[in-house]
Amino acid sequence: MLHAPVPATRPAPAARLDAPARLRGGFALCAGAALVLAGCGGSGDGGSGDPLAPQVGNANACTVTAGANGAAVVVGSGLAGDPSAPEPASGYRVGKTAVRANSFMVSTANPLASKAGCEVLRAGGSAADAAVAVQMVLGLTEPQSSGIGGGAFMLHYDATSKRVQAYDGRETAPAAATADYLRWVSDTDRSLPQPGGARASGRSIGTPGAVRMLELAWKDHGTKPWSALFTPAITTASNGFPISGRLADAIAGGASGLKRDAEATAYFFNADGSPKALGTVLRNPAYANTLSAIAAGGADAFYTGTIAQAIVDKIRITSGGTPAVAITPGLTTLADLSGYQAKRREAVCTTYRANWVCGMPPPSSGGIAVASALGILENFDLSAEKPTGNLAEGGRPTVRAVHLVSEAERLAYADRDKYVADTDFTPLPGGSWNSMLNKPYLQSRARTISETRSMGTAQAGAIGRNAQGVSLVEERGTTHFTIVDSRGNAVAMTTTVEAGMGSYHFTNGFILNNQLTDFSATATDSTGAPIANSVQPGKRPRSSMAPTLVFRKADDGSLGDFHMGTGSPGGSTIIQYVTKTLVGALDWGLNAQQATSLMDFGAANSATTNLGGEHPLLNTANNGNNDPLVTGLRALGHTVSLAAQSSGTSTVIRVRDTAATGGSYLQGGADPRREGIVLGDSPQ
Ligand code: GLU
Repeated sequence: MLHAPVPATRPAPAARLDAPARLRGGFALCAGAALVLAGCGGSGDGGSGDPLAPQVGNANACTVTAGANGAAVVVGSGLAGDPSAPEPASGYRVGKTAVRANSFMVSTANPLASKAGCEVLRAGGSAADAAVAVQMVLGLTEPQSSGIGGGAFMLHYDATSKRVQAYDGRETAPAAATADYLRWVSDTDRSLPQPGGARASGRSIGTPGAVRMLELAWKDHGTKPWSALFTPAITTASNGFPISGRLADAIAGGASGLKRDAEATAYFFNADGSPKALGTVLRNPAYANTLSAIAAGGADAFYTGTIAQAIVDKIRITSGGTPAVAITPGLTTLADLSGYQAKRREAVCTTYRANWVCGMPPPSSGGIAVASALGILENFDLSAEKPTGNLAEGGRPTVRAVHLVSEAERLAYADRDKYVADTDFTPLPGGSWNSMLNKPYLQSRARTISETRSMGTAQAGAIGRNAQGVSLVEERGTTHFTIVDSRGNAVAMTTTVEAGMGSYHFTNGFILNNQLTDFSATATDSTGAPIANSVQPGKRPRSSMAPTLVFRKADDGSLGDFHMGTGSPGGSTIIQYVTKTLVGALDWGLNAQQATSLMDFGAANSATTNLGGEHPLLNTANNGNNDPLVTGLRALGHTVSLAAQSSGTSTVIRVRDTAATGGSYLQGGADPRREGIVLGDSPQ
């Protein structure tokens, strides 16, 4: 056994990991927290000695209302209306409506994670505090999508300093990685990594970044003791939780990969080898032990010592399964783990009409690509293209809207494919994203859009450097959450193990990512030109993740009030999901749920234009030939794909309303294509 057993009660905060010094003593917990009713003069932990004791007077905060009488139901209670009660995964749940709260809100893709975050906020914790609690629960209840064995990007807004800070917790390639690390076993054995390529081998596993990044963000913006933030996940891991529909699908769908790993087999499968089914109560004492160690010892307990050793040992495993198959080991060392650094980076903030839109800089291409698409769209009047029909599901976008947005995205993807990679290794043209996002350049890109014919495949703009960055695979092992705390701070965080169930390597109760497959497997293109997103030691693979924070433009043109946070999983289509949600909210005035529910549409840089076939307002019968949106796009030369889209958008909007308490309220939406819910201090 690697660690001390899970404490029966909340672990005492380790002295060096107590609340950041500048916030000790309680003052900062009270400042600006209009709804905090108790404990503000005491310890800073609510006065009860319990750092997560509720401070909000609204007894129904962090509950959902259910049933004909609108009764408050506690998430995880198992009572009728409990949104964490397992249901079969479905493509789209109709009828979701925006949730309203007074001062704090959390939207995640999992009810138990939303609850954990909401309880931290209710206790007066900050958005950064809540992010830690949310991530630790997601790693348990939605392990197919994110966890401590993966990486993440966070955008944080500090309402006091009015600053946006980007945090980079992207995985890194090990020091021993070569340009062909993913491509073949070695220079002398030029066969594919086993089994079946890099993804399920040790080669795909990047040094995890989520824990170090969360610690960094918490040191900057946390108010609660670090250790307390692990309590909800430790308790749930120890007591168990029922397997949700999506997790059941992920276990069954990933069975062949997971069964190559003895620890994953013991956890996810019954003794007879069948996958644990929907509703089965899953307990994860190994994860509880891991979290207890990180709670007590900080991120160092993950990046050094027995957990780090177990990660390295697992990455270096050479066979697995019954009968055993060969697994190509990765070359990660303890030094890769102990040397991992999360980074503070400058957010990509550009104006879009009356707003500032801030996104994630490289190594993600998400912020640049979304800003590029919006900057091109700014040259068209989209407000005239408001969706029609039942706005409860976001409505039906018009042909012209889908055409213009898709064309703008084609141009944006062409540029990001060519120019964006980890800027610590491959600078952007001109040394800054401004070369790709300045208004004259994007106007010139907009002029290449025809109103009557799709361009099919776009060419990258001639900005300077000639380097491409094609990725091997981009799949669905990601999740996004958005949080606003009672002081007005906001977090948008997208977090990932890359593909569903990552590399299928599992240790100490968590999945290890396969993020390195986001690199290009080759260092040069067919013409011999260097590829920006090639593998290099210590480099971070290019991402598409696009956590986004939106602000109103102040009268003097500077960054004004917080308006919105959003983001989504979805591999390279994240850029389309986020752009759609932003256009829905900012151009069409859709509320947080409508913009989230709105049909997923858009295009990467190919002739194919996506219309989410899972959406109830799209008629996919007869190959879409009965739906005028589909036929209208085909008439403009689009090759329309009606494949179901699997966005997982979580959106929070601050609605200005002079009649509401404090002049505004929060409005949240969770993607009807996933299992998430929005919680907050909802008015009752
Ligand atoms: N690995 C992808 C990225 O960083 C995300 C994968 C997903 O969304 O499922 O862009």
